[in-house]
Amino acid sequence: MKRILVTGGAGFIGSHLVEYLLAQGHEVLSLDNYFTGSKENLLHLRDHPRLEIIRHDVVNPLMVEVEEIYNLACPASPVHYQYNPVKTIKTNVMGTLNMLGLAKRVKARILQASTSEVYGDPAVHPQTEDYWGHVNCIGIRSCYDEGKRAAETLMMDYHRQNGVAVRIARIFNTYGPRMAINDGRVISNFIVQALCGEDITVYGQGQQTRSFCYISDLVAGLVRLMNTEDFEGPVNLGNPEEYTILELAQKILELTGSPARLVFKPLPQDDPRQRCPDISRARKLLDWQPTVPLTHGLNETIRYFAEKLRQQGRKLAV
Ligand code: NAD
Ligand code: UDP
Repeated sequence: MKRILVTGGAGFIGSHLVEYLLAQGHEVLSLDNYFTGSKENLLHLRDHPRLEIIRHDVVNPLMVEVEEIYNLACPASPVHYQYNPVKTIKTNVMGTLNMLGLAKRVKARILQASTSEVYGDPAVHPQTEDYWGHVNCIGIRSCYDEGKRAAETLMMDYHRQNGVAVRIARIFNTYGPRMAINDGRVISNFIVQALCGEDITVYGQGQQTRSFCYISDLVAGLVRLMNTEDFEGPVNLGNPEEYTILELAQKILELTGSPARLVFKPLPQDDPRQRCPDISRARKLLDWQPTVPLTHGLNETIRYFAEKLRQQGRKLAV
């Protein structure tokens, strides 16, 4: 049994990770400032004897005794990370610095939730970990992309300079229950719109691609990476099945049986045109690969959002 800190523990991925680690028998500290996360995500675990819940902002130093740190604190949806971009880069740089300082002091192993966004609008496809990326450093996504790139730099420098045991997960688009209804990311938007019979907002012509990983697969990958020995470099974690956004919209319409129609909206600035992980490294190093098919994951997510919308008294169109 280990004592493990999860920053961003009340968020979408964080809350599933907290649940998984508790089920493995560990003692877990969940830390969050509740910017995009919600207490409701951990409500079912509130009285768990091995869970401690702390309200804290990672831009401020923290003193706790732990053996492992999963550093997930950071808004992940473009809508949310662009709401206060200065705070986003501060969270990524100062937050990671604080968590690395803690890891160094208490000799904890630390895993950073990095992102496929470090590849920017990639010129190499699918993306391998040795690709350095194609990122605009002055655009509206830079607070997140460059923040995460700087966080990776900090991780490697703390490793080289101070011998901190670091792990870097480059997470590709992940989805599932407990995404927020107002999250603004594509899967939650399309499902909520389909269930409510509202227009499905496809940005651009919907020809850009993404690869979607179900939450349980991702959490299993994160824990395997944390527990792997002697590997400090970045590891892609994602599902290598690639879809256009238009294909995704059509699939969600089909699965929900919704009468909603597609509408085309302007493509946001610097929106990556293609994204698909090469997961050879994760397969070899972690013996990991996603197992949940998109249809199954979407059905689980649709069921979750339908229930949430009903609880809010929203009338469903399906
Ligand atoms: P999320 O927004 O649901 O969760 C982020 C959590 O961090 C929230 O609970 C939020 O309140 C908290 N937080 C934000 N700023 C904080 C701060 N300064 N101090 C303390 N807590 C703070 O997003 P998510 O999808 O669960 O993402 C979790 C992590 O994984 C993020 O670091 C994100 O960048 C990374 N990631 C996610 C995806 C994805 O597809 N979901 C893809 C790549 C990377
Ligand atoms: N997108 C869309 N409609 C929406 C939300 C997003 O067409 O309502 C597109 C967005 O332009 C991007 C893709 O879906 O090309 C994935 O967007 P998301 O915000 O989920 O994540 P990203 O991978 O861009 O960080």
